[in-house]
Amino acid sequence: MTQLLAAILSFSAFALLFGVVLAIASRVFKIEGNPMADNIETLLPQTQCGQCGFPGCKPYAAAVASGEAEVNQCVPGGERTMLQIAGLMGVEPKNIEEEPTAPMIAFVREDECIGCTLCIKACPVDAIIGAPKQYHTIITDHCTGCTLCVEPCPVDCIDMLIKPELLEHWSWPLPDTARAQLAIERKGQHAPHAT
Ligand code: SF4
Ligand code: SF4
Repeated sequence: MTQLLAAILSFSAFALLFGVVLAIASRVFKIEGNPMADNIETLLPQTQCGQCGFPGCKPYAAAVASGEAEVNQCVPGGERTMLQIAGLMGVEPKNIEEEPTAPMIAFVREDECIGCTLCIKACPVDAIIGAPKQYHTIITDHCTGCTLCVEPCPVDCIDMLIKPELLEHWSWPLPDTARAQLAIERKGQHAPHAT
């Protein structure tokens, strides 16, 4: 009888200890957020432009990861981003409704600017500098061409221009062949975060 009691007690003690260890481990090794959403976010162009219908790339990535959004809603990312996300999620690619336009960049006609600072508040990537009642200008390296600053400008002095193709951005255009298409698809499937 004592042996049975001893066995029950030692087993219970072991189970309790194991439970405590598991509880501690679940807190210590807890993964914040959704790893799939994080992986999707790294594939997005980070323009924070909202053309996907979400207030930025991170909320869109979370919505795709949870199945609330489609893989083809990122307009500036276009087909390449859609294929990479579809490859990552292991889902079928979707048609691209809106082809991305040529890369754009904002330009302030400074002599018309009244320095109201409304554009600075609208820019999601802090690509505009200026001070109240002083003219504003665009930091071209930071501008993603999202156009969010155009609408709030009360004097309509912001133009969207085609981004000049500089040597560091230039790459050989892929030939429009089935083989090139296959290469894009395969690249999407073998994207660094594809599981
Ligand atoms: S400057 Fe305008 S177009 Fe450029 S990123 Fe900011 S809001 Fe977008
Ligand atoms: S919103 Fe227009 S007027 Fe106002 S600071 Fe920006 S560029 Fe100038």
